[in-house]
Amino acid sequence: MRRSADRSGFPAVTIDATALRDNLAVVRRLAPRSRIVAVVKANAYGHGLVPVARVFAGADPHGAGDEAGQGVGHEVDPGVGQGVDRSAGQGAGRGVTQDVTLGVARLEEALALREAGIAAPILLLEGVFSAAQLQCAARHRVEIVVHSGEQIHMLEQFTGAYRFTAWLKLDTGMNRLGFRVGELAAARTRLSGCAAVAGMRLMTHLACADEPDSALTRAQIETFGAVVDALGGDALGLDEPGAGAPGAGASRLERSIANSAGLIAWPQTRLEWVRPGLMLYGLSPLAGRSAATLGLRPAMTLSTRLIALHRLAAGETVGYGAIWRAPQPVSIGIAAIGYGDGYPRGMRNGAPVRVDGHEARIVGRVSMDMCAIDVTSVPGVHIGSAVTLWGEGLPAEQVAPHADTITYELVCRITERVKRQWQGI
Ligand SMILES: *Cc1c(COP(=O)(O)O)cnc(C)c1O
Repeated sequence: MRRSADRSGFPAVTIDATALRDNLAVVRRLAPRSRIVAVVKANAYGHGLVPVARVFAGADPHGAGDEAGQGVGHEVDPGVGQGVDRSAGQGAGRGVTQDVTLGVARLEEALALREAGIAAPILLLEGVFSAAQLQCAARHRVEIVVHSGEQIHMLEQFTGAYRFTAWLKLDTGMNRLGFRVGELAAARTRLSGCAAVAGMRLMTHLACADEPDSALTRAQIETFGAVVDALGGDALGLDEPGAGAPGAGASRLERSIANSAGLIAWPQTRLEWVRPGLMLYGLSPLAGRSAATLGLRPAMTLSTRLIALHRLAAGETVGYGAIWRAPQPVSIGIAAIGYGDGYPRGMRNGAPVRVDGHEARIVGRVSMDMCAIDVTSVPGVHIGSAVTLWGEGLPAEQVAPHADTITYELVCRITERVKRQWQGI
């Protein structure tokens, strides 16, 4: 984890802070009356937890000027960012307001944010798993999801002075986390009686929001609305979050349903709170729609260079297992990237890459540190040619199916040894 002056290193992931901000602006346009939980779990979907969180909280990714910025291990692009107010955490007035809550899955992620000096509200999406974790969450002012009786019990036993914001989670059909419909009223009553709870919100999570016309999604939204009704709150207002304003009715609970796919495809899920993750990184959550048509720009570009170039005769093979055989004479470029960097071993022959901006294809098996590319049709190809695996010019959505996976997993599995550099700061 050192700052390096060598900007030629590869492979590298380049993260575009401007894209992150613009994607957040897309969320605001889609859900102008909703408040946002910007989800930064799993190292901000592989984009870098602390710097990404700083951007969503309205600051510079490096937290320039604070000590925390020194340990992040990324490079500063000196060519951009001039004229920007770099005071960390204060917001630099670039259209990013300060009302974003950061969503994480693990307490450790919340602590890393606090250690970096990030003061924004943080929501722990799975809540705490022990009394010790609850104390720690209190110490660091972390909001918690409450999805089980065990978690309520911990709150009842909590003796500290801190009072939590609790996000009561209803299971409307995903059957992963949350209280069942029949258990919710009792859970709410218990939580209301907890001295440790200052405020409560109600949330659920959709299983099939990415499927247009999903009957399950419709049922989940209906169930959520019915439960809200039964609790005496307002029914789901179609795209009318905040009608009546939180606090107008004392019993009214602020509500949250939407992840990225819900937010885009199911407007009735844009309630007082939305919880986008994937779309903030410029990736489309919907199978049939490209990120570009949604106004999103990929924040991550994964790139490397060719470190060798060969001419193969027809019939020769390349790489482990000799699984690909040249059908005619071809030029093969060896790229310095492999599954040790997070480029999946499962990536099949024919997966798209770009070499010096030209389309090319993966051939043979991806190994730990290298992979082979058919560069026969790339003009002027040479050792050192730039290779893009996904990102700018090659949406990850087009790459993921070639490894039988989804963009979420592609970006999450970038490994430690890949250099991370920032632009647009
Ligand atoms: C991860 C997560 C999200 C964000 O989901 P995306 O599909 O990335 O938008 C929202 N809510 C919860 C509870 C999550 O765990």
